[in-house]
Amino acid sequence: MMRIGYGEDIHRLESGGPLRLFGIDIPANVHTLAHSDGDCAYHAIADAILGALSLRDIGYYFPDNEEETAGMDSEIILRKVLEMMEEEGYMINNIDVLVTLERPRLSPYMDECINHLAEVLGITTSRVAIKAMTNEGLGAIGEGLAIRVVANVLLEEVFDE
Ligand code: MG
Repeated sequence: MMRIGYGEDIHRLESGGPLRLFGIDIPANVHTLAHSDGDCAYHAIADAILGALSLRDIGYYFPDNEEETAGMDSEIILRKVLEMMEEEGYMINNIDVLVTLERPRLSPYMDECINHLAEVLGITTSRVAIKAMTNEGLGAIGEGLAIRVVANVLLEEVFDE
């Protein structure tokens, strides 16, 4: 049994770095405006996993209007969702993530992002894809006012021997 999931997140950007993405503080002159640490990559990935499991979304489990989640490290959210996935008897087959951001360029940090994400997800880097693109100057993302991340994940049922 395989299950596919899709997650998407968008955050406004404000002046002052660093930019928190994939659990890494990327040198930048912008950061995301958010209730938690604003790691929209982790939010999109967590939502993709929940979607694959038909378990609603991260807003359901981690409301953005509660004191408990204020400034929260989003890696805690992702790890909790991974626990839920394991309880349901699934593992990640592979994940494909696309970041749309005008600046900074993510290429210098891509290896670090891929390695760290693979480690958190407990899979090899050959099962992790992270891509980045600009929005060609179009719309709010193109003006550098926002960042969007979309994630697709394929889950595979774990069979006990
Ligand atoms: Mg978010």
